[in-house]
Amino acid sequence: MMDRVRTPAASCCLGAVLVLDFATLPGASTVGEFKNSLFESGRRRCCGSWPGDYFVTRTDDGLELSQEWSGSYDMVHTRYSSFETGFWSPTREHNNVGMKIYAASTPYSAEESEAIRNLLADRVAADWDREIGARIRDSEWSRSRMLPLGYLHNAAALLVLGGFACSLLWVGDAWRSETRRDRLRRGLCAGCGYPMDGLREPVCPECGERLPLSGSAPG
Ligand SMILES: [Zn+2]
Repeated sequence: MMDRVRTPAASCCLGAVLVLDFATLPGASTVGEFKNSLFESGRRRCCGSWPGDYFVTRTDDGLELSQEWSGSYDMVHTRYSSFETGFWSPTREHNNVGMKIYAASTPYSAEESEAIRNLLADRVAADWDREIGARIRDSEWSRSRMLPLGYLHNAAALLVLGGFACSLLWVGDAWRSETRRDRLRRGLCAGCGYPMDGLREPVCPECGERLPLSGSAPG
C-alpha cells in the first residue's frame, strides 16, 4: 500500500484533488474567506438583512407601529442575518435576529420597550415571516446548528492531505538513488562516498558496502 502511494503519479492526483477542493470551498469558512481575499478582492462572507423598519407612535391607548410616517421620528429597526462558519468546510450555520429601538426624544421605559417588542413580533409574523416573529416574541435572538456534511468533508480532506504527505516520500527516494548513482560514477562507495580506487576487494572498508560487479572487478 505504502509503496503504491509514494509515486509522482499519486502526488499529482492527490495534490490535484486538494487544489480542486480548495478552489471550490465556499467563502463562508476561514480558509474560504482567505481564498476570497486573494482572488476576489475581499468580498465579505456575511449576511442577508431583514428590511424591517417601523415608526413608533405614542397614542392615548398606548403604542402603535406603522410603516408609514406618522409624524414621529421614533423607530424600531429589525435585522436578520444567516451565515456559516468553519475552518475548511463550513461546519456551523448561524441565524441571528436583531431589534433596535431608536427614540428621537424621550427614551422608552423597560415596559414600553417590551410592548414595542411584542407589537413588532406581531407585525413581523404578519408581514414577513411567522417564525421570525415568534423568535422576536421569545427574545430568541441567535440560533445556530451543526452542519454534519461539513465535518464529513473535513474528514475526507484530511485523509487526502495525509495521503498526499505520504506520497511525497518518493522525492526522498529519488534523491537518495540519484546520490548513489552519482557516487558510483565518480568511483566512490555508493553508501558512504569513500574512494574505491585501488582496492583489492570490491567491498568498502569504511561501511562494508559491496560494489556492484560491473566495472571495478580486478582485471
Ligand atoms: Zn562505503
